[in-house]
Amino acid sequence: MKPIVILDNGHGEETAGKRSPVWSDGAQLFEWEFNRDIVRRIAAQLDDLGIGYEILTPETTDVTLGERCRRANEIYRNYNGMAFLVSVHANAGGGTGWEVYTSPGETKADAIATVFAEEAQRVFVPDGWRMRFDYSDGDPDKEAAFYILMHTNCPAILTENFFMDTEKDCRFIMSETGRQQIAEMHVAAIKRVINL
Ligand SMILES: [Zn+2]
Repeated sequence: MKPIVILDNGHGEETAGKRSPVWSDGAQLFEWEFNRDIVRRIAAQLDDLGIGYEILTPETTDVTLGERCRRANEIYRNYNGMAFLVSVHANAGGGTGWEVYTSPGETKADAIATVFAEEAQRVFVPDGWRMRFDYSDGDPDKEAAFYILMHTNCPAILTENFFMDTEKDCRFIMSETGRQQIAEMHVAAIKRVINL
């Protein structure tokens, strides 16, 4: 039996913050919409490939991190430990580029994050995007004690797909090309991880 991927498209439409500034032409990105659209695109491609997945928050309202972890752990149990989790986000804080997180220390998530980092590098670097990698512990992921990474039993990673409060990044992730590239990069990585 092949593992499945649990796709976390967290944040709800009513979540405070988690949105870009309003740009000069009135355009604005809401992270809940971005996360769901990327996960929807990933799911459509996984359907075509026959790769199993579960979407953690099908609703558009905010589902608490505790409930999301409870659901993920239930899915992980139901699939007899044959699952890993990918949490999809847009970054904020005024930087640029792409990064991936695992929980601190060495876990099974590190090898998964490395595959995602390699695919992001392959897709985005030729267009001049910056990879925000941290090789201080020997692999490209960053480490942080994010709730979703700490309280899920399965290997779990979190991708931060460009900065919604940096206009160049935000325009990219609002665009059809940007969203398609982000989804394709995730699917390419998921395919590799499933076959590891
Ligand atoms: Zn987020």
